[in-house]
Amino acid sequence: MLCEVAHRFGDKYALKNISLSIERGERVAIIGPSGSGKSTLLNLMQGVLEPTKGQVFLKGHLLQSAKLPFDIRQKVGKMPQDNHLVGRLAVVHNLNGGRLADWPFWKSMLSLLFPQDLEPLKEMMKTLGLPEALLFQRTEELSGGEQKRIALGRVLLQRADLIFADEPVASVDPERARSVLSLLCAADERGRTLVASLHEVDLARTFFDRIIGLREGRIIFDLPRNEIQATHFNDLYRLEDTLS
Ligand code: ADP
Ligand code: MG
Repeated sequence: MLCEVAHRFGDKYALKNISLSIERGERVAIIGPSGSGKSTLLNLMQGVLEPTKGQVFLKGHLLQSAKLPFDIRQKVGKMPQDNHLVGRLAVVHNLNGGRLADWPFWKSMLSLLFPQDLEPLKEMMKTLGLPEALLFQRTEELSGGEQKRIALGRVLLQRADLIFADEPVASVDPERARSVLSLLCAADERGRTLVASLHEVDLARTFFDRIIGLREGRIIFDLPRNEIQATHFNDLYRLEDTLS
């Protein structure tokens, strides 16, 4: 993926001349304080948002053309910051959302009345550390952390080869956050590309190969994990010169 963009909302720049390329199989964490532009960057990379300047290429295709071939689109998994789950539907339907691309239309429709192929969903609940009984509960009745895990389950069931996850462990308790990230970054999924935004420096360093620091819409550093030093993080979160 190749990303050469700038973006402003009204006359305020959210991202200033970002230039980066991400190779297949990379696990990239985007870290930075709130408002630094992480969600904006992820949304531009996914084509959810059109940059006010510049272009994004995904596997050689111009993303903004909105004519991304179906087989590429189908392989892109999304975990947006607000999860995009349908709250009033049972968990089982939200999980099945990840499998719809693999199913014929009739099966998707039938599944809304009689959930189809429950076995993989039960397996997934086990993997996520959630009780199977939750499958038939309304999704909005789950806690924030549980909903995050359902959004993760949906994206894993999709078997996407490129995943964008915006704060996948926000509102997940710390020890659970580690297991969520290890699922997302599973080492056996070779060739799967992952781009995620995070607040937690330690988690970024533990689970990702490459760390991009964003601050006020600019890339402050873009380094392999083993080259990251404490000073990089201090630069990122330093408060005194936010107005300069
Ligand atoms: P982060 O995800 O790192 O917290 P965002 O990408 O959400 O940061 O926001 C970057 C900047 O752009 C912030 O100053 C934010 O207020 C602004 N911004 C984000 N979305 C919008 C929007 N839809 N309209 C106006 N300003 C926005
Ligand atoms: Mg955000």
